[in-house]
Amino acid sequence: MRILLLDLKAQYAAIKDEVKKAVDDVLESQHFILGPKVEELEKNIALYSQTKYAVGVSSGTDALLVSLMALSIGPGDEVITTPFTFFATAGVISRLGARPVFVDIDPVTYNIDPPKIERAITNKTKAIIPIHLFGQCADMNPILEIAKKHNLYIIEDAAQSIGAEYKGQKAGSMGDLGIFSFFPSKNLGGIGDGGMVVMSDKGLYERIKMLRVHGMEPKYYHRTVGGNFRLDALQAAVLIVKLKYLDGWSRKRQENAAYYDKKLKEAGLVDKGFVKIPIPVYKPTGDKNYHIYNQYTLLVKDRDKLLVHLKENAIGTEIYYPLPLHAQECFKDLGYKKGNLPVAEEAAGSVLSLPVYPELTADEKDYVVGTIAEFYG
Ligand SMILES: *Cc1c(COP(=O)(O)O)cnc(C)c1O
Repeated sequence: MRILLLDLKAQYAAIKDEVKKAVDDVLESQHFILGPKVEELEKNIALYSQTKYAVGVSSGTDALLVSLMALSIGPGDEVITTPFTFFATAGVISRLGARPVFVDIDPVTYNIDPPKIERAITNKTKAIIPIHLFGQCADMNPILEIAKKHNLYIIEDAAQSIGAEYKGQKAGSMGDLGIFSFFPSKNLGGIGDGGMVVMSDKGLYERIKMLRVHGMEPKYYHRTVGGNFRLDALQAAVLIVKLKYLDGWSRKRQENAAYYDKKLKEAGLVDKGFVKIPIPVYKPTGDKNYHIYNQYTLLVKDRDKLLVHLKENAIGTEIYYPLPLHAQECFKDLGYKKGNLPVAEEAAGSVLSLPVYPELTADEKDYVVGTIAEFYG
């Protein structure tokens, strides 16, 4: 049996006719950049994410970049985030000449550990970027409190978490700004690059719309230097189709995760300490936390050997992420040393993500668990 980490062909097969029609409509219209399709998607995403406004942009990375630009973050400023995320989160801070300040993660959720944030705040701190990693929201209430107390902006990096909820609130709706990515491997993926910024503040909405088109307002008059951060109509048209299916897909991912949880326990792997299951801390019921499992990521013993074993058995896996950002060569100048952020460092050495995409069959999941059990003997 061969199992990919993510099989987008299975998803496409189920919605092929609708997607092709949407693409064809855009081709017939010959309207490719921004325009009515992008506006329709923006409306739908704002509604979906419980915010007033949304601005479609060229990628998740650009959504982060334009958010920081809108908040006038630049040289001399510090922005707090986590070292255990995709590079883009910290890259955009550096690109604007500001300094990323890394705060260690919580070992159970892999998200920023709120009690550690306050110690990292200085008089240069302007914003916090919490990441809702792998599809689960960071513990936002304490983060929002800290931001309020110190007068800091919050940009939620919800690139991996569209549809996730924290105590009934949608990812992206809790901070000043929230960002999504439509990179094909995200839960809502386009047919190329794309992203979105969501917000409920009208001033920020207008500023980001202006920055998206070179800071131009009105046409050919520029008060601010922006960039080309435009979303194209083909992406929007396909994403409008896919958004209708998103919650159904996320539920399937949750079912797959629950199935893995159960089977890994039944195989004795959790009790024997070989595998630590990522517990959705804020459960879907009760206080309504909602993990949408962009990744199903375990902490495992002898990770690198298990990885080889899974590869030999044709099971797709990935390490998100093998080297925390504070240890990256490009951030050497920031002066972090090994041991500075031990929880992130430890996670980087033992995480492993398994296939969790919606179309996985029971046989495939059993094969994955069986292959892991076989490895630990
Ligand atoms: C994917 C991702 C991004 C960047 O999104 P792109 O659309 O690929 O530019 C940013 N942050 C996180 C956490 C991501 O996973």
